[in-house]
Amino acid sequence: MESVNHKNSNYYLDLEKQHGAKDYHPLPVVLAKGEGVYLWDVEGKKYYDFLSAYSAVNQGHCHPKIIDTLKNQASTLTLTSRAFHNNRLGEYMEYTTDYFGFESLLPMNTGAEGVETAIKITRKWGHTVKGIPEGQAQIVVCDNNFHGRTTTIISFSSDAGSKDHFGPHTGGFINIPYNDVEALDKVLQENPNIAGFLVEPIQGEAGVYTPDDDFIAKAKAVCKKHNVLLIADEIQTGIGRTGALLAVCGNCTCESNCEKQEATYVRPDLLILGKALSGGVYPVSAVLADRAIMDVIQPGQHGSTFGGNPLGVSVAKTALGVIREEKLTQNARKLGKIFRAKMTEYILGSSIVNLVRGRGLLNAILINDTEESKTAWNICLRLRDQGLLAKPTHGNIIRFAPPLVMTEEQLLDCVEIITSVLQEFEP
Ligand SMILES: *Cc1c(COP(=O)(O)O)cnc(C)c1O
Repeated sequence: MESVNHKNSNYYLDLEKQHGAKDYHPLPVVLAKGEGVYLWDVEGKKYYDFLSAYSAVNQGHCHPKIIDTLKNQASTLTLTSRAFHNNRLGEYMEYTTDYFGFESLLPMNTGAEGVETAIKITRKWGHTVKGIPEGQAQIVVCDNNFHGRTTTIISFSSDAGSKDHFGPHTGGFINIPYNDVEALDKVLQENPNIAGFLVEPIQGEAGVYTPDDDFIAKAKAVCKKHNVLLIADEIQTGIGRTGALLAVCGNCTCESNCEKQEATYVRPDLLILGKALSGGVYPVSAVLADRAIMDVIQPGQHGSTFGGNPLGVSVAKTALGVIREEKLTQNARKLGKIFRAKMTEYILGSSIVNLVRGRGLLNAILINDTEESKTAWNICLRLRDQGLLAKPTHGNIIRFAPPLVMTEEQLLDCVEIITSVLQEFEP
């Protein structure tokens, strides 16, 4: 590697250990460079990235077009705040609302801020449009959800580590089991003060838990019946990852705005995007909705210093363009099918892997061991040794989510690495 950095991995691991908070438990690898589907560590060892920064890097590392936009805009104008207009935000809003088929967009930075924004819009809509008594608006959420790390969002998490001792928790949320339309119907029937249903179309952090194909469509119908907003958190599943532009698109691959969507498309009332919205180059998130919902927010009622900044929105516009130009959605769909077929084939003769699940290039395998076991972690260490980076989620589940710019040949190479490492762990 050309880097002038002669320090080794242990040096950086020690620095973080000495000076950093202990909020993460990373795989011991120190990365210094990325390009497309590849990463290099400080020793110059090359890896396939099979996490893509939790699906933020769908367009591949350091995509030249996105980086060009970043560089050009960085030397022109980076931040004005929303006290003034800037000449990049309007075009980004027009492009993105057209791309996803909504009337308006509210720009934020991180995913959690997008979720917080959607919660605020939903509550205000509940109180001022639906007529829920002030302060009584409820939002239904699913067990084992992951929507971010803010105080309000962890208040409705089912994960003790995320939630315990961080109270007092924010009220106004009702949990139901995931993939359970009857439970949703029941709770909406019983409670007239429900304003919204916040849901991940596939639960990524829970272990790529993939619901029935018609779950979201049925949930939408139930929400409509009870005048409740469907809020889709597509921060991880959106923007090509699942082999459709959005996971709520189902089987539709049009990659265009939503006029041409097939019957499988379910239009949420609020759509939350983040992560790959910027190709992993800059924190950019957004909430999209039609005017009747979005316009409950009036000047002074919500905002963010960095939200909608010219640097972030320029990067995001280019990053969305790349998804279309390079047909990454179709590629994710094609490669995902191959990946699951290969893994299914492997599982037939395996006692260490129980199943593979997912859609497009958002997949996971379930390791035949307890959540407390070290098996999945040890498999990821061996994958690292063999040049492929993945990380367990929930102890015994390994998520496989490479950048969508991967070629079929590279994918088959990766399948080879994965199956040969798994082979080492078979009894
Ligand atoms: C990552 C993620 C978030 C939070 O995004 P941050 O940018 O980390 O705040 C929210 N929802 C889902 C589904 C996610 O995967």
